[in-house]
Amino acid sequence: MAYTEDRAVWFEGQGLWQHVPESDWKSWTWQLKNRITTLDQLERYMVLTTEERRGIAFAGSKLALAITPYFFNLIDRNDPNCPIRLQLIPREGEAITSEEEMLDSLGEDEHSPVPGLVHRYPDRVLFLVTDRCASYCRYCTRSRLVSNAQDYNFHPEYEQALRYIESHTEVRDVLLSGGDPLLLSDKKLEHLLSRLRAIKHVEFIRIGSRIPVFLPQRITPELCDIFKKYGPIWMSIHVNHPKEATAELKEACERLSFAGVPLGNQSVLLRGVNDDPEVMKALVHRLLRMRVRPYYLYQMDLITGGSHFKVDVRKGIEIIRALRGHTTGYSVPQYVIDAPGGGGKVPINPDYVEKITDDEVVFKNYEGRTFRYPLKSTPRRNALEDSPLAGGAGASDADAGACHI
Ligand SMILES: *Cc1c(COP(=O)(O)O)cnc(C)c1O
Repeated sequence: MAYTEDRAVWFEGQGLWQHVPESDWKSWTWQLKNRITTLDQLERYMVLTTEERRGIAFAGSKLALAITPYFFNLIDRNDPNCPIRLQLIPREGEAITSEEEMLDSLGEDEHSPVPGLVHRYPDRVLFLVTDRCASYCRYCTRSRLVSNAQDYNFHPEYEQALRYIESHTEVRDVLLSGGDPLLLSDKKLEHLLSRLRAIKHVEFIRIGSRIPVFLPQRITPELCDIFKKYGPIWMSIHVNHPKEATAELKEACERLSFAGVPLGNQSVLLRGVNDDPEVMKALVHRLLRMRVRPYYLYQMDLITGGSHFKVDVRKGIEIIRALRGHTTGYSVPQYVIDAPGGGGKVPINPDYVEKITDDEVVFKNYEGRTFRYPLKSTPRRNALEDSPLAGGAGASDADAGACHI
């Protein structure tokens, strides 16, 4: 069944937590304290499937279960296939490790000069500042360390990491991630941002966070002031399905935008969640309405116990093909595979080019019609006489016809 924009509601309100004072509901610390983290708590609110009950029993040794009350409200408790439910509630599939899966599928630990720092690309580093999140995505690429269910004992060394960045003048871009950096206190975040801002060669600072989605209450005016003070700070949020685009998220994005934070979105292509061109179109349209530019669409990493989420790459290509040209160019993310073992992100694109020769490039447009663009210039027979130069007058900009802006 096609998913249409109109069918998604901009959810707002306290849902199952009507009895809670609004001041509590809007407090991010209240939301964190009242997260759903156990089988008993979940069963108080919903009827679980056998698959889920088995998954939850296993989750403790893989990746903790945690869902903020705000985000839990988005689950359709009558639908075992609810796209929000699939992302947050463990299923039996997590216990099945496939041959090709790895604990550290992106080879991050091998590229880590200092605990918590990954230096894979020449000019930028990934700085993992915490192993905790507001809620845990079951397909987490860092489930080896996040939530510490696997006894990884993640200890970021802020001082060592900062000194590494200070002494590596080639690092012009620092990406704070984790875990979720916005779980740090304002004070800690301000410390990190002020230290990074003081490094002359660091020209670009960004944060990867799903907090605006799980816990929009965290985007307080005080936090926004910190982003303003040390800006420009860029942010990639993580929305996978249009149901996540609530009024609360929209308002949180507005607060960030008005504080001068440019927003991008990263989605992971997930079976049963967003592996459908209509769902993805509704999602990217909603993102644009929230001032968020779709950035990456990820093929899921080969994490252990993730195969039940895996989508065929051909489906991902079909989704991009369904967007490009058919809707706003700003709304089309770059589909990538993060190369297993640590090769970095590689774009996977629909193939529009049919042929390139010395003479021409032959390609199809979004409707499947074929076009040709000549690469060789063949002067017309009377070119010299026709040329404006022949009459002695210079070619005007309009005649040159090269400006497409
Ligand atoms: C994703 C990633 C980055 C950032 O990549 P961009 O393409 O610049 O967004 C940097 N370092 C590591 C290790 C990454 O995984």
